[in-house]
Amino acid sequence: MQPATPFPSSGERPLDNAPPRTLLIKGALVLTMDPALGDIDQGDVLIEGNRIAQVGSALAAPEGAESIDGRGMILIPGLIDSHTHMWQVPLKGLGVGLWGTPDYQKHVFPLREKFAAVDMQDACFAAGTEMLDNGITTVLDFCHNTMTPAHAEQSIAAHRRTGQRVLFSYGMLGGFSTLAADHPWRLAQVRELAAELGRDSDSLVRLGLALGSLEYSGLDLVKTEIELGRALGLPMTFHQNPPAQIRQLGEAGLLGGDLLPVHANLAADDELEMLAACGAGISFTVEGEFGGGRAMNIIGRAHRAGVTPSLGIDIPSRVALDLFAQMRLTFQVMRAEEALAERITGRWPLARHPGTPHAEPRHMLEYVTVNAARAVGRGDELGRIVPGFLADLVLLSTGPYNMSLGDPAAHVAFQSTPADVDTVIVDGVVRKRGGRLTTLDRRDASQATQRVRERVLGMRSAA
Ligand SMILES: [Zn+2]
Repeated sequence: MQPATPFPSSGERPLDNAPPRTLLIKGALVLTMDPALGDIDQGDVLIEGNRIAQVGSALAAPEGAESIDGRGMILIPGLIDSHTHMWQVPLKGLGVGLWGTPDYQKHVFPLREKFAAVDMQDACFAAGTEMLDNGITTVLDFCHNTMTPAHAEQSIAAHRRTGQRVLFSYGMLGGFSTLAADHPWRLAQVRELAAELGRDSDSLVRLGLALGSLEYSGLDLVKTEIELGRALGLPMTFHQNPPAQIRQLGEAGLLGGDLLPVHANLAADDELEMLAACGAGISFTVEGEFGGGRAMNIIGRAHRAGVTPSLGIDIPSRVALDLFAQMRLTFQVMRAEEALAERITGRWPLARHPGTPHAEPRHMLEYVTVNAARAVGRGDELGRIVPGFLADLVLLSTGPYNMSLGDPAAHVAFQSTPADVDTVIVDGVVRKRGGRLTTLDRRDASQATQRVRERVLGMRSAA
């Protein structure tokens, strides 16, 4: 264990943070994702400071307000990723053709032990910059690379620089040979970080807990982690890979709406009922799961059981930082599973039998806004465009080749790509405008990735 370095003052804002101001977005097709407000054609959204002040039509601009022309664009809540390991971004492309979890755990995961704390800072900065560029305003960073206290500190320092909203989920899974021995200092650092980050209620970076995996850490360690997380009021998440773990946690009285399982491909029906009963969701990382050969009918089953799905990119070494792609793929995977189930029961050709299909295109946008906000513990102030909510917004260009016919949410889910992300606003601050980052530089992110590759992989710089 390395000694802890001094943690930056919790009151520090990123140096490049612009001061709060009044913004008026005018004339956009606003998808509020709110049942009462619905979609507003040629809608306006007024932002005061870091909150949405008004949503409607033909709003008057207050004196001194900056106006953003939203005509020809779709305004959506900022996209929220509920499960990504941001430290892996410099490893992009590594092991894309690996087969299943064992290959990944043999060839990619062990590289974490080669990451020094400084690599964590560069990797998280590169990840946050690219995600913001791609319209992802909030992310749950499942940091299962807190090999020393400095690893966590440097990751948080990077998140504070980007201006992205981050639930930094502190990883309790350290080196496999020293799991129990290292547990006390991790728990101690979680307490310290909770106190530091908790002092600034406006901080974009909040603390969460990424529990140790039950199959490695065992129930006793995980129970200790959950009890600490509950005492500190931290949102918690965990990888749910082998079967029956949700039942195991439920029988131990540990499940709750503050506990977000990830994957859960093998969850049984009674486990889904347990999650639904406590208001929990599941984070699905469809491209990684599907590519890894996992069972995928869980998403539809969870949806039907009332367990709110949200989506994550998960493994940036293998999957692009693109939530639009996850929406598209999730929908098609669900349709494929439903069609397979119909064929198995002999109901072919497909007809709209009661209960099928159960997911529509708009659900995909809900998964990465409304549901994902709940998944990161912010369902009461993120994920919808309503007065009082935090001003995290994305303007999507629909040109030059025209809007889709039909539901505009389907245009977002099926026809949009990161190239369409025109404007990104986080906490009332414009981070991208007219397709260009305003407070970050793509070259800085690229160079940060390059530095990690030099140090971790021994690659020589192209510069
Ligand atoms: Zn993961």
